[in-house]
Amino acid sequence: GSGHLDDAGYQPTTDLRTNQPHAARMYDFLLGGRDHFAADRQAAKKALSAFPTLRIAAEENRRFLGRAVEYLVREAGIEQFLDIGSGLPTAENVHQVAQRHSPGARVVYVDNDPIVLAHGRALLEEDTRTTVIQADVREPRSILEHPGARQLLDFSRPMAVLVVALFHFIGDDEDPIGILRTLRDAVAPGSYFVLSHATAEISPETALGVQRAYRAQGVPLTLRDRAQFLEFFQGMELVEPRVQVVSDWRSGLTEGQRPSHAEVSWYGGIARV
Ligand code: SAM
Repeated sequence: GSGHLDDAGYQPTTDLRTNQPHAARMYDFLLGGRDHFAADRQAAKKALSAFPTLRIAAEENRRFLGRAVEYLVREAGIEQFLDIGSGLPTAENVHQVAQRHSPGARVVYVDNDPIVLAHGRALLEEDTRTTVIQADVREPRSILEHPGARQLLDFSRPMAVLVVALFHFIGDDEDPIGILRTLRDAVAPGSYFVLSHATAEISPETALGVQRAYRAQGVPLTLRDRAQFLEFFQGMELVEPRVQVVSDWRSGLTEGQRPSHAEVSWYGGIARV
């Protein structure tokens, strides 16, 4: 684990801009983690008051991620993962799930928030199969050409690229489809993409309240509907059960056991290149 961040006493070596809310730390707060500052908590609380089940949504997104990785290792035979917008280390991280099912699995975590790099380095010091790099998905080549990624991943063999709960932070003007195309063209056939994305399609009023809350705090959030989300899988073949609300995707639970679609309001899917 990671130490508690004390707003007063913490002395980062990089500028973490702690007076400004960050998506990674807001998400960590929502998931009950310990790596967040007052500004992050305040912003997350505003989002929670607009959308009281945001915590459930974040937890269901994490569960989806876990099931996706398990599927990829056990059923698709994937042994290498590029997890973009990985977030702060929490429970059941990708390398833990993957390496539980296949000890040799390799994982490269990518995030543009320097705090993720700092925590990842400390957490992964002893782990030669997992690494964390700082890069921005809006410059996908900086990820693909990063020595840390090149060292651990074999781009001539299939891998899984995880873009989970990330693209709602990428505006239409930032060309999300072009970013995905660049990534897709760089990986071997038989690779997989995992995506999840917040939507306002199911419960417009509350979801748009979250969008407003994030934007008001300087964290741009773009919600997309199913049709827009489906566009991200262009040129790939969706795996069954295709696009679902994340809590429904291969959950193995009956309807009564799962949260409602409105409570989650988050789409997910996996596709094969
Ligand atoms: N993928 C994890 C999950 O689904 O549990 C974490 C998702 S978290 C909501 C989104 C992460 O994306 C944050 O850690 C944030 O720092 C990162 N992020 C936001 N914009 C990014 C960008 N342009 N490039 C790379 N990472 C970014």
